[in-house]
Amino acid sequence: MKKVRDIGIDAKHPENECESVKCPWHGSLKTRGRIFKGTVNSSKPSETSVITLDYFNYIKKYERYERKSTRICVHNPSCISAKKGDVVRVMECRPLSKSKRFVIVEKLGKETTKMTEDVKTQKEKTQEKSGGKK
Ligand SMILES: [Zn+2]
Repeated sequence: MKKVRDIGIDAKHPENECESVKCPWHGSLKTRGRIFKGTVNSSKPSETSVITLDYFNYIKKYERYERKSTRICVHNPSCISAKKGDVVRVMECRPLSKSKRFVIVEKLGKETTKMTEDVKTQKEKTQEKSGGKK
């Protein structure tokens, strides 16, 4: 078995191995800076995925928080291979491409919030409608 590197945070290393240089566990990619959790939105280009970050923004005037979300492109190492709907831990690293500055370091499981379920059912409904028309 290949040597697994210590990336400096309390995270479980992936079961699979990979040969990629851009992998924090098996390659030479250094991770530093921000760490956060996000949900994978799309994993279409191989080794890349788009994740959604939900956060609260405080509005001083109303003394309340608003819910916001943003999408960022992250590197998805082949040993982790997160799929759509997975909750992942993301860590900042050097710029890997034009839009990727973060890398997935750990898979935390599947998302189980109500919001996505609603979206899913809505999508299914629209699909049924379009199918019926045909
Ligand atoms: Zn790897």
